[in-house]
Amino acid sequence: MNIVIFGPPGAGKGTQSKYLSKKYNLHQLSTGELLRKEISNKTDLGYKISSIINSGELVSDEIVSSLLDKYVSSEVYKSRLIFDGYPRNLDQAINLNDLLNKNNQKIKIVLKLSVSLETIKKRILERKSLENRDDDRNEIAIKRFMTYEKSIEPVIDYYKKSDLLKVVNGEASITEINEEISGLIEGIKG
Ligand code: AMP
Repeated sequence: MNIVIFGPPGAGKGTQSKYLSKKYNLHQLSTGELLRKEISNKTDLGYKISSIINSGELVSDEIVSSLLDKYVSSEVYKSRLIFDGYPRNLDQAINLNDLLNKNNQKIKIVLKLSVSLETIKKRILERKSLENRDDDRNEIAIKRFMTYEKSIEPVIDYYKKSDLLKVVNGEASITEINEEISGLIEGIKG
């Protein structure tokens, strides 16, 4: 069972992905975390992308997509992936589809966490004091929200067409969201 989860920054996709990965024995593939790891490990790629990430823009499709191949082609992770933060635009959605097809895999469900900008601002400020992410400054968080809204629209249409998309109320509590998502997954499993 491969799952795609997306939502604006601060929507709780990381938290929900971690929960799902434990509950269903899946591997959380967070492109944001992989990119932040490159930065903290001070790799060449890390230097190249840090200013882009810290300004709230998207990293190029080529760079992000290149991070996926080894996970999708691995027997260990086969049909056990949660794509957290990928795809972010239509080209990435098409690329993911092609990559999965090539590896005889499918997406079972696409979860969209819907949250308002007001809630996002509050959550990002809370997270900033806990995790100290450079891109969680207020103005950058708003920029990331706008970037997300603009690029995700065609992705939503793309998954609506294939009937995979489920919209989840991301304003609810973590436990309530856990329950809603589990119900949706049980529904498609059954
Ligand atoms: P996230 O942890 O998902 O909020 O991602 C943090 C940042 O990493 C984003 O604001 C982008 O700069 C970058 N990033 C993560 N995933 C992608 C992606 N699929 N495409 C482009 N940039 C990404």
